[in-house]
Amino acid sequence: MAAPSVTAQRQEEITAEFDAASLELAHELLRDFLAPPPDLTVTQWAETNRRLGNMEAAEPGPYRVSRTPYAREPQDCMSPRSIVEEVDLMWAAQTSKTTAMLNCVGASMDNNPGPIMIVWPSNPVAKRNSRQRITPLINESPALAKRVAANRSRDKANTTQLKEFDGGILAIVGANSAADLRAMPVRDLYLDEVDNFPLDVDGEGDPGMLAEARQTTFARKKRLVSSTPTTKGFSRIEARFEASDKCRYHVPCPHCGAYQHLEFGSDKAYGLKWDKDSAGAPIPSSVHYVCKDSGCIIREHQKTAMLAAGVWVAENPGAQGGRVRGFHLNGLYSPLGWLSWRTIARAWHAAMVAVQHGDFSLLRVFVNTRLAETFEELGDRASVHELRKRAEDIPLRTVGWRMAVLTMGCDVQGDRIEARLWAWGRGMERQLVDRAIFWGDPALPESDPTSPWAQLTEYRRTPIHHLSGAEVPLLAVTIDSGGHHTQAVYGYARAHQAERVLAVKGASVKGKPIIGKPSDVNFDWRGVKVKKGVKVWQIGTDNAKAEIYGRLRLETPGPGYVHLSKHLPGDEFEQITAERLVTRYMKGRPVLEWVLPPGKRNEGLDCAVYALAAALWAGVDRWSDADWQRREEAVQAPIPQKSAEEKGQVSPEKRSVEITPAGPEGGKIGSLAGLARFKRGR
Ligand SMILES: [Zn+2]
Repeated sequence: MAAPSVTAQRQEEITAEFDAASLELAHELLRDFLAPPPDLTVTQWAETNRRLGNMEAAEPGPYRVSRTPYAREPQDCMSPRSIVEEVDLMWAAQTSKTTAMLNCVGASMDNNPGPIMIVWPSNPVAKRNSRQRITPLINESPALAKRVAANRSRDKANTTQLKEFDGGILAIVGANSAADLRAMPVRDLYLDEVDNFPLDVDGEGDPGMLAEARQTTFARKKRLVSSTPTTKGFSRIEARFEASDKCRYHVPCPHCGAYQHLEFGSDKAYGLKWDKDSAGAPIPSSVHYVCKDSGCIIREHQKTAMLAAGVWVAENPGAQGGRVRGFHLNGLYSPLGWLSWRTIARAWHAAMVAVQHGDFSLLRVFVNTRLAETFEELGDRASVHELRKRAEDIPLRTVGWRMAVLTMGCDVQGDRIEARLWAWGRGMERQLVDRAIFWGDPALPESDPTSPWAQLTEYRRTPIHHLSGAEVPLLAVTIDSGGHHTQAVYGYARAHQAERVLAVKGASVKGKPIIGKPSDVNFDWRGVKVKKGVKVWQIGTDNAKAEIYGRLRLETPGPGYVHLSKHLPGDEFEQITAERLVTRYMKGRPVLEWVLPPGKRNEGLDCAVYALAAALWAGVDRWSDADWQRREEAVQAPIPQKSAEEKGQVSPEKRSVEITPAGPEGGKIGSLAGLARFKRGR
């Protein structure tokens, strides 16, 4: 959260500015209702007045809309004469999205002045863009420089985030400050990179909506919303585009003349195509576009003429009374000399290579920034459905043929401990073997038989068998100490060190290894130093979740594949896929962050993370073929019947007798809760 004093001070400044300008604004409001709007369109203004600086454009110099012909109509919808109220740009990177927005801002300041607000994802981004984008916009256009200069003499008329100009005011704010977003009435609102806005600002809701609410006073309000899309289900620009008239840019085939919009078409007969070299990489000179209509071969140099002849075609014409126009544009339209088709082909190839290794991060970037489409995370309903569909008919608590060892991950909640048993095979192939929930207060000592710790100990010591009948070794158990009952976790880990019970602590710091170095905790809960301390292992939860979600996408058994049983309680599939990767801005930088949508539970995913950390701690990812062979032979060989009883452990048959029927709250957890619900003597 931003320091309150700074925010308060800024709000005071803005309020003071607003008071000073209120008379002018009253006139402006009057003019807004009475005076006819100016005739000049945004692109006419930009071609006369706009110079692109080095900071903004790869090609500095006077603005020419002919360089990006698709940018004409969206900009002109922002002209005062147009009836359009909202323009939504769902555009790929390197298509001149920001230049188009700044043209609209400049045209308004000069041609149709009034209160204008630009919102960027955070205050640091807003400040940086003010210096790198807004200052050059004003300084490089004599008309604007003159208008702003007229107010320069006044104290504080021009700060990084507030520019007063002849007839209006321009506020440049971050979407992470509710106070700034509602500081003043706004006629023209610009929401840039809206998919990177915080989901909620200062508990007041969606920042875009908060800013929009400031526009209600104005009859001729204008709004431009732009973004490269991010995650499906979370993407604001996609939601706005879907509600708009949904325009795509249709260009004529230079051979047959058929109008069509350009598509990447990885799964289609038309689209971007190329020949591959012996390593499977695209041969640059072979990259071409296949016409959808007649299969004509289109070369990239023909794109310039195609763009010039292009037209925007609405899929949903007249949506919202024609007042909301949406424009979708992927990277294939990027003008010659910016982003080439061969670069796109190469990026796709790199993403596909990464996918084969279970890493979907490059594909996500490709889909978002090149195709300007949302990326579907595994946490959505369809994928849950897929996982369920492919689940195998293997009983719970039974280890499959390709697996040889077990680990357990535990998550401590206020009223229970949740555990998941995972089995491991070569190449990190894995199987979720069991889910157990031990109800009770984790503050109770293990010596109390009703304590969940006592239940956990018994569960840990109960043998798990391979399909061969052999007992499968439990290599390590990890318990999260970062949530509830930290001291109880330390105490339990200390007491059971010999059985490889580890206290772990998750850290969602990017780039942290899944299992890091341990730190010693030598203090008890009163802060008094104790002799026999406990090691706490750091876990990089971000990396672990990415690893797990990448593996869950694999569709054929083999290295990395995740085996799930049909007999798991239904909500386990939802829990393990509960989180989504979304982009957030932290200290002005975009950060991919795992987010649990409201109302969803994720203990299954957390436990999977801890069990993965336990497996890496035990070194299963580093075992040689010989190590694996030894392990596999050990579990696949037939074993004598009595091993469990010999060790004085409870046999599965005996244990099941001790299980009490599931109580009323047990019903929603499913049968496994019952299995794990030991007699509590109530
Ligand atoms: Zn054609």
